[in-house]
Amino acid sequence: MTTLSIEELQVQYQLRDKTVHAVDRVSFSLESNESLGIVGESACGKSTLGLAIIRSVPGGRIAEGNILLDGKSTLKISEEEFAKTVRWKKISMVFQGAMNSLDPVFSIKQQFEEILKAHNYSGDHLKMINDTIDSVGLPSTVLDKFPHELSGGMKQRVVIAMALILRPNLVIADEPTTALDVLVQAQILSLLKKLKKEGMSLILISHDLGIISEIADKVGIMYAGKIVEFGTLQEVYSNPKHPYTQALLKSMPKIKGESELISLKGNPPSLIDLPVGCRFYDRCPHAMEKCRKEPPKIKTELGHVLCWLYE
Ligand code: SF4
Repeated sequence: MTTLSIEELQVQYQLRDKTVHAVDRVSFSLESNESLGIVGESACGKSTLGLAIIRSVPGGRIAEGNILLDGKSTLKISEEEFAKTVRWKKISMVFQGAMNSLDPVFSIKQQFEEILKAHNYSGDHLKMINDTIDSVGLPSTVLDKFPHELSGGMKQRVVIAMALILRPNLVIADEPTTALDVLVQAQILSLLKKLKKEGMSLILISHDLGIISEIADKVGIMYAGKIVEFGTLQEVYSNPKHPYTQALLKSMPKIKGESELISLKGNPPSLIDLPVGCRFYDRCPHAMEKCRKEPPKIKTELGHVLCWLYE
């Protein structure tokens, strides 16, 4: 059982004398056995948010805020203790494009062994690996194969199994179905649903609203480093409040009924040079003078919308 709380988290990258505000005062919570979908355009900060939760942001740093796991801060313990007690044991991650980073010269079994060795696992390695590979619906014969001998769907199941090997309660999956064909996407989604049913909490990071709608209990919409809307799947999809969420949902094709697809003009602001007021100002059809001058207030409670229209 794991409860995760993110409080006013700020993650930054330093580029010489410029600061990239990749995640800016993000707050939310996730209860045990819940699934959360984080949606947003490329470079909105969603992958950095996932990396920050496992305290592994290459080239970046957690500048402020807190991450609480079962009420205890994971930022106030040493890196050594975090690696020993939290990373992969309580929270693990399926990295974006991870199936392409499987080492071509080692068998799948050797790559599992590496993970267990790195985490000083002292139990029966082979049983642990076999049980995990079985839990993602792959035969044990896969273990003697090399990555090039597996299909894309099998490789993706292998990297999901690698994230599950130490039985974490929470898995962060970053674009786990991107670059897979629709049938394999459906298989990976049903695997994630099965794992969730078995008690795992899940954070699913995706740009695809359809994928999120399949599995998420809660949804956070991210734009230019901020979560601009947060609520239950039902609330966000049936009654989107933030103009950005409304635009995202209107850009999704619908099978039933005809509706015009709306594309959003313009681009998000640079995370190095953020505007003073609302970050969506330049693209928002409801923008007011106040939005240009002042950022909408941040609310940390559940079900928040970051927009002056709702003040
Ligand atoms: Fe649009 Fe203003 Fe709301 Fe920003 S605060 S989303 S500009 S209405």
